[in-house]
Amino acid sequence: MTVDRMLPTAEAHDLLDLTRELCERELAPKAADFEARGEFPREVIRTIGRSGLLGLPYPEECGGAEQPYEVYLQVLETLAGTWLAMAEAVSVHTLACYPVYAHGSEAQRKMLPDMLGGEMLGAYCLSEPQGGSDAAALQTKATRDEDGHWVVNGTKAWITHGRDADFYNIFARTGGPGARGISCLLADAGTPGLHPQKAERVMGLRSSAPSPIVFDDCRVDADRLVGAEGQGFTIALEALDAGRLGIAACAVGLGQAALDYAVSYAREREQFGRPIADFQGLGFLLADMATQVSAARALLLSAARLKDAGRPFSIEAAKAKLFATDVAMRVTTDAVQVLGGAGYVSDHPVERWFREAKVLQIVEGTNQIQRLVISRSLVRD
Ligand SMILES: Cc1cc2nc3c(=O)[nH]c(=O)nc-3n(C[C@H](O)[C@H](O)[C@H](O)COP(=O)(O)OP(=O)(O)OC[C@H]3O[C@@H](n4cnc5c(N)ncnc54)[C@H](O)[C@@H]3O)c2cc1C
Repeated sequence: MTVDRMLPTAEAHDLLDLTRELCERELAPKAADFEARGEFPREVIRTIGRSGLLGLPYPEECGGAEQPYEVYLQVLETLAGTWLAMAEAVSVHTLACYPVYAHGSEAQRKMLPDMLGGEMLGAYCLSEPQGGSDAAALQTKATRDEDGHWVVNGTKAWITHGRDADFYNIFARTGGPGARGISCLLADAGTPGLHPQKAERVMGLRSSAPSPIVFDDCRVDADRLVGAEGQGFTIALEALDAGRLGIAACAVGLGQAALDYAVSYAREREQFGRPIADFQGLGFLLADMATQVSAARALLLSAARLKDAGRPFSIEAAKAKLFATDVAMRVTTDAVQVLGGAGYVSDHPVERWFREAKVLQIVEGTNQIQRLVISRSLVRD
């Protein structure tokens, strides 16, 4: 089913066409196989990067494509409908570029063309084994040695691209307890003492499984502090505000794919001598799925347009993340139902999409945390 999109420019239409073509040619033929083998497709990421899709919302002068968020998110949505792990990779990478883009020193910002041009893949290291929701309580420590280097010790958990990234944003405690004691450091892959661990055995997104990272006296150059000392948590949250829009876009794309698949199956499959789509019980289910996906997209784009206009958008981003990811979970669950027994086996992609949808309700702030953010904004003076 073609989604009728109101895009702001002719260039944006071309970009969406390019993305669809890339999906058909490079992603669709490989997705099921890489997911089944649980192998990270570094070459596919490189192709996505060289097509210009890894730096879409950043300015051209930094090596990006200077696209509005509204457009970037619809590209993500399109990628997610073909291969969620690749859309999530683009979203996480975009998140990982934010600290250097927004707070990096002049020297750090010289890395942006490679980061945004697709040659370097990023990781965002905030969560830890003892807690993800209460990120301000993180325990990974960075202290200065006599040469001024930062020496990082601790363990990060669930890091997407943990084993494959070229650069890592590390949020570490450089001061006292709480949010103000946290700083952001930038480390290259291969920095001595930075040890990615075995990938997790995940329910979905198996081609891009996260891994813990152990920092064991990991020495990061003095000039790799991003922003000011103690500013790390603010930087982490700013990045997550926009990142949540990315996760919402992934959810809309996944929901749309599940809806399309369910509709086409229901038109073909016959029971009692008629296509199952003709039964009202099933037709109404499809109608609800379609309505939810459209509503999620509308909420997402309205938050994106606020961001593009330079208006506050973080609460709207939290609502979009919450709503769109809950919709993705419901719609993929219903898609399995529409296929009946066929939905429960891996011959059809809805089985994989159902497993994948779950993670979107968890990453970049669980949906309970989104509700916390939204409810606090309602009662704040
Ligand atoms: C596939 C995958 C990829 C990920 N990638 C990254 C990454 O690249 N970088 C990164 O830093 N992290 C990453 N994460 C971690 C993710 O952000 C955390 O899992 C998430 O923030 C939740 O943290 P937790 O798992 O420690 O759960 P916990 O914080 O232990 O929460 C457990 C449960 O308690 C609920 N809860 C906690 N506090 C409250 C509260 N105040 N009110 C109501 N309910 C509450 C939560 O909603 C959840 O249901 C990834 C996780 C997964 C699964």
